[in-house]
Amino acid sequence: MSTGGCIFCAMARDSAHESPIYRDEQVFVVRDINPVADVHLLVIPNIHLASLAYIGPGQVPIMGHMFVVAEEMARREGVTLSGYRLVLNQGEDSGQAIEHLHMHLIGGRQLGALG
Ligand SMILES: [Zn+2]
Repeated sequence: MSTGGCIFCAMARDSAHESPIYRDEQVFVVRDINPVADVHLLVIPNIHLASLAYIGPGQVPIMGHMFVVAEEMARREGVTLSGYRLVLNQGEDSGQAIEHLHMHLIGGRQLGALG
């Protein structure tokens, strides 16, 4: 799979990129450029997984790590107790905008019902 044109892969490779507010050996976190709430972060794996369609048993560790980092970021942003939502979009109908798996962390206001 070519990842040459993938903006998230480019950010993952460029350790000096200014956008990430968190990095470790498996994921990085950026603020969504079109936030829908006061807190709107993206938790992004360093490896290129185009979407949930590419997830299998081998991806359990990275998927689990994304949740751990999301909660750590929620704590840093001060929304753990007030509440937040984690969203993983899959494919066109969901509005997945970038074909590199990413988890949205949304909080800082009362969120509406899903659906
Ligand atoms: Zn990518």
